[in-house]
Amino acid sequence: MHKARYIRTGSIVLASTMKSGDYFGIFQCEHCKTDLILTQEHKRHGKIVSAFFKHREAENDFQKRCPLRVENNSDKSNKEKKSNKSKELQSV
Ligand SMILES: [Zn+2]
Repeated sequence: MHKARYIRTGSIVLASTMKSGDYFGIFQCEHCKTDLILTQEHKRHGKIVSAFFKHREAENDFQKRCPLRVENNSDKSNKEKKSNKSKELQSV
């Protein structure tokens, strides 16, 4: 996702407009209020990936089901569900 609430200013900001000093700030998802990680623009497989916000680990079901969470798109395979489950069991 490219938009988030910047806690310091309380306003919605675009990832691409953030300066280096902003990378230590706290950003929150507008929808689920999960803290976000600001990822800088970088190169991947020779292509430029523009700056974006990434959700931190969900603390509850509501955060887990956030439609803005990118991971949800690739969370449909059973394999991934299984590995998530075993992860949960380990941490208990
Ligand atoms: Zn969210």
